[in-house]
Amino acid sequence: MTAPPGGAGPGRQAQLAEALARLQARIDAACAASGRAADDLTIVAVTKTYPAADIRLLAGLGVLDIGENRAADLAAKRAAVSDPLRWHFVGQIQSRHAPAVAAASDVVHSVDRERIARRLGATAADAGRRLDMFIQISLDGDPARGGVDPASADALAELVAGTDGVRLIGCMAVPPLGADPRTAYQDLASIAARIRRDHPDATAMSAGMSGDLEAAIEAGATHLRVGTALLGRRAGTVG
Ligand SMILES: *Cc1c(COP(=O)(O)O)cnc(C)c1O
Repeated sequence: MTAPPGGAGPGRQAQLAEALARLQARIDAACAASGRAADDLTIVAVTKTYPAADIRLLAGLGVLDIGENRAADLAAKRAAVSDPLRWHFVGQIQSRHAPAVAAASDVVHSVDRERIARRLGATAADAGRRLDMFIQISLDGDPARGGVDPASADALAELVAGTDGVRLIGCMAVPPLGADPRTAYQDLASIAARIRRDHPDATAMSAGMSGDLEAAIEAGATHLRVGTALLGRRAGTVG
């Protein structure tokens, strides 16, 4: 197994700049096709498995939203990078890691149960902070991949909206394995619209990864979570 490319140096900086330009071109084309404005979209660079040096290079290129999926990595990279970035947590959250996730993130995309929402909120409130939260919706009823069942999403949204230390900003999903992302993201969009009826400020939608961001933009995504298309193929991982 080879180490993933990454680290400092002019070669890496040029590689990231090219990848960002290609990504921006895809986003611009998808936005044009849907009549949307590209600046309504936030690119969250998912830097899992890549070093802090890459995050500094991305920051230099104007990518100021960084995502991680493990609490320890999020904390370590946040501590190692002094640029003023917004840190997003996108992975499944175990209850015992909730305080660490709350302490190191500004936005949490993957809140899928009451206990996690309460623990994140309590930690943030104790620190005098407020976390932005997406509730993660399960589109296939497979609890192993995270997400709340759509039938329970409204109750979870209500709980989050009433929890100190957090602000409900919208819904997130990962498309089911093998599913058509277009259908999956349209399903997410209709659940998000339903939740927005009770929570008008929950206008964000976290959807779209390297392979399917066009479908997500078409469905109304506001936050794209992009790893591979920016940083390269992760070594030794699937997806
Ligand atoms: C890794 C990851 C991404 C990025 O996936 P790519 O296909 O590499 O763009 C997005 N969302 C979540 C939850 C992830 O874990």
